Amino acid sequence: LDVIIRGGTIVTMDAENRVLSGDLHIQGDRISALGQLPSPDPRARVIRADGCAVIPGLIQSHVHLCQTLFRGMANELPLLPWLKERIWPLEAAHNPSSMRASAELGLAEMLKAGTSCILDMGTVHHQDSVFDAMRRSGIRGFSGKAMMDRGRSVPAGLRESTRQSLDSSRALSAKWHGRAKGRLHYAYAPRFILSCSPTLLRRTARAAKDEGVLIHTHAAEHRAEREAVRAQLGLDDIEALEGFGIAGPQAVLAHGVQLRAAEIRRMARLGTRVVHCPSANLKLSSGLAPLKRMLQAGLVVGIGADGAPCNNRMDPWTEIRQAALLAMAREGDAAAVTASEALGLATRRGAEVLGLQEEIGSLEVGKKADVTIVDLNQLHTAPGGDVISQLVYSSTASDVRHVLVDGRQVVRDGELQTLDEASILRRARTHGRRILERAGLSSS
Ligand SMILES: [Zn+2]
Repeated sequence: LDVIIRGGTIVTMDAENRVLSGDLHIQGDRISALGQLPSPDPRARVIRADGCAVIPGLIQSHVHLCQTLFRGMANELPLLPWLKERIWPLEAAHNPSSMRASAELGLAEMLKAGTSCILDMGTVHHQDSVFDAMRRSGIRGFSGKAMMDRGRSVPAGLRESTRQSLDSSRALSAKWHGRAKGRLHYAYAPRFILSCSPTLLRRTARAAKDEGVLIHTHAAEHRAEREAVRAQLGLDDIEALEGFGIAGPQAVLAHGVQLRAAEIRRMARLGTRVVHCPSANLKLSSGLAPLKRMLQAGLVVGIGADGAPCNNRMDPWTEIRQAALLAMAREGDAAAVTASEALGLATRRGAEVLGLQEEIGSLEVGKKADVTIVDLNQLHTAPGGDVISQLVYSSTASDVRHVLVDGRQVVRDGELQTLDEASILRRARTHGRRILERAGLSSS
């Protein structure tokens, strides 16, 4: 049955940045018409959007569902000690039920906040639980198990051989890529250079190219991480990754805080993707990424909340707002990144990061009906002004009324339709307590 979203302000985020008033029609899983339309089908289901912005479903292109359960359990530490002392022992303590609880908690939070598509990095084991939760939640997304075949301080529960890492990744890709009517995608996920052997990185790059799937990793995040890579390989991480074949449009690198101008130009030329995670970069004391430079150089940049323990929210609105404000502060320029560019990171640009620019990222006829409807009739958004700056600077996650993915309503009147919120909260509390015990850690 057709769906009509009626009476909202349609923020298309298309190439001309058009903002329209009127209706958005959906047939099946795609947008069939936009704007002022004559005599709609009387049998169509109508979603009222008066006083609301109708925007493309938000895309978070770097998250860790496996870490949502560790929210609040890893604080006041920079990247490497944060990983070694807290995150890795907690990830190693996961079992299939805690993984399910963790993934569902993150998915519920992100969907309710208007996120319709994610690029996720898992941990070494229990990846089926992540994909299964994604499938049931109705979200569109990419994920892959973390690959870790080397590294000091990696707990035994996360260590794997090069062969195990590749074989299990390939098997998961064969099992999940293209599932749920194409909503699910595999993305190879060598965690970062310090946890991967050169052989693993080279072979993973080849496998991803052969299968035509994304390769997702972390790079140029914290200065100490970069120094450790240089001490190990004698070169900087970006150059090393390119040498291993991890560069170009299939390569998605989270962070890029430490990037130099020459690296940015080189990555832009090659088409390598970067994902900006401003809150995580602040909380792990990594720094402020050179967002303005990246955009000026033509780099394709997305945005993401990263993991709950380094944020502590999975809220796209916080990230969009921080991206714009921090760029202004970093550059001493109130127009360093415009509101439209900031929203673009989570829409049009986010789709490009994932290679899905023909399908999602803007509201255009023929594209997938991934739509978020945001209530602008709130004290903190009144009386209005420019709708895009309203969305970027005023809107919050709790303003999201409806979310559709593939034309299917997954959030209705602020309520999740696909997963049971009460049971997610209950299981998060139980599994959160148990995983700390299994990891032998105290709560802070
Ligand atoms: Zn990350």
